[in-house]
Amino acid sequence: MITIGVLGLQGAVEEHLNQIKAAGEQAIIVKKPEQLQEIDGLIIPGGESTTMRKLMDRYGFMEPVKTFFEDKKPIFGTCAGMVLAANELTGDEKAYLGLMDISVKRNGFGRQKDSFEAELSIKGMETPYKAVFIRAPFADGIGEGVEVLAVYEENVVAARQDHVLVSAFHPELTGDDRFMQLFIEMVKTSVSKAELKTC
Ligand code: GLN
Repeated sequence: MITIGVLGLQGAVEEHLNQIKAAGEQAIIVKKPEQLQEIDGLIIPGGESTTMRKLMDRYGFMEPVKTFFEDKKPIFGTCAGMVLAANELTGDEKAYLGLMDISVKRNGFGRQKDSFEAELSIKGMETPYKAVFIRAPFADGIGEGVEVLAVYEENVVAARQDHVLVSAFHPELTGDDRFMQLFIEMVKTSVSKAELKTC
C-alpha cells in the first residue's frame, strides 16, 4: 500500500483524504515538513494560494517540497496547488514552487464563472469526466515537456510533466475518482521504480 500526504495548512484537505482512502490507499495530513519523509506522493490541495504560500513559508515547507520534487516523488497540485506548482504566473505575481513548465492565470475563468461544472474529455479516459471548478485557474502557457490532459474552452485545465500532475478543477469533490486514480498510479510507479533501485 502506498501513502499519500495532503498538505494540511489550508484548503480542501479532508475530501482528498477520503477519496484516497476510499480507493484503498493510505492518506495522511501533512502539517510539518518532516512528514514528507513518511509519504510516497504529495497533494497540494485547492484553497487560497496566497494564504497557502504564506503558511508554507511560515512552516518551512518551500525547500523540503523542492527536495521531494528533486527526489522524483510525485506531486499533485489541485486548483490553488496548480497555481503554486507553476513556473510562472500571468501578471505581476511571482511564481512559487516552480515544479512545472507552465504559466498559470489565477482566477482565469473570471467572476461570471466563479464556480461551475463541466464535462471534460480527459486524455486516457474513455468517457467524459464531470469536473468541479471553483475560482479556478488555467494554464495559458505550456512548455515543451508538458503533456496536456484536458482543455476547457481552449484553456488547459489539466496537465502532467514527468512526476508532477496539476488540475484546475477539484477531483476530490466528485464521486468519480478517475483523476485521483491517475495520481495514485503515478505514485505506485514511482514506488516500484525506487524499490528496483534498492534491490
Ligand atoms: N483562486 C484561488 C487561488 O488562486 C484558487 C481557488 C481554489 O483552489 N479553489 O488561490
